Amino acid sequence: MQSFKQLYFNTFNNRNKNADLQRLAKNTGVHIIFPFYHIVSNQSVPHIKHLYPIKDTTSFEDEMGYLLKHFTPLHMDDYVAGNYEKGKLYFVLSFDDGLSEMHSVVAPILKQMGIPATFFLNSDFIDNKGLFYRYKVAVLIEKVPTEKLSKQITNLLSLGKVKIANPAKYLLQLKWSDTELIDKIALACHVSFNTYLAEHTPYLTSAQILDLIKEGHAIGAHSINHPEYRTIDPQIQFLQTRDSMQIIADNFQLKKKYFAFPFTADGVVKELFPAMYGELKIDLSFGTAGLQTTKYPKHIERIPAEHIRYGLQEIIGNEYYYHRFKRRLGK
Ligand SMILES: [Zn+2]
Repeated sequence: MQSFKQLYFNTFNNRNKNADLQRLAKNTGVHIIFPFYHIVSNQSVPHIKHLYPIKDTTSFEDEMGYLLKHFTPLHMDDYVAGNYEKGKLYFVLSFDDGLSEMHSVVAPILKQMGIPATFFLNSDFIDNKGLFYRYKVAVLIEKVPTEKLSKQITNLLSLGKVKIANPAKYLLQLKWSDTELIDKIALACHVSFNTYLAEHTPYLTSAQILDLIKEGHAIGAHSINHPEYRTIDPQIQFLQTRDSMQIIADNFQLKKKYFAFPFTADGVVKELFPAMYGELKIDLSFGTAGLQTTKYPKHIERIPAEHIRYGLQEIIGNEYYYHRFKRRLGK
């Protein structure tokens, strides 16, 4: 998140958390919001706990209750078809990264509360066939003692007398293009990601995904293996989008094509947008930049619901006020 936006949130949070949403929706013209999460769990999740806060079921249920109090749940397909009332407040919920908790924890809660969702999946990770490079990093930090990690990284980088003093910090700044290095570090530290995948099954299986579809949820693509688009070539951006969308649409016989950019839509090459809605026939694409209007009618920025400091009620109030503030500045 941009630092100015964060500063704005921190400064005005006390006022913003009790936002009059009806009035703000009228002021901003935004009646449909798109909050999204990654995981809900009451357990410690080793491949995530070093990366971002994990919401427990009680907080998640409270947040869904808050949404239901102020907004009507809207299915992604109904949003696309325009099946909603003008002027009424709606939320379209989604979850990124296709984690197994979607089936074991999230779906039962959504079923009970009558909320449809869209799950965005990485085609390489379905059925636990691969692990996101950030999860690999988190697993290394979790499993390998700092001293050992520091020594192995220093050796691999041939740094000689220069030592990596904070291996966690070093690992956390690595990118998708460093995947080979991450795999080498794991090998040197005797950590097997395949064993981790087999023991922890972090991701949804195909059968579980079919269950979610049967329960009325939507499925979308989230790239092949989760690179940050601004760090990769335009051709790779295109392939990651095309191939993941095609594999997931074919495997699960999807009627609509939804795609959520991994990390952020910032830095996506501008030629990709018309190609997505044209030759790739993608119905809607999604970013993670919060409440804002976008240049493309089929591209929607969603609201990240997992914040280290704020709950969903505060986040939504902050996002609405910030959006209104920007509009008043003419941005
Ligand atoms: Zn993601």
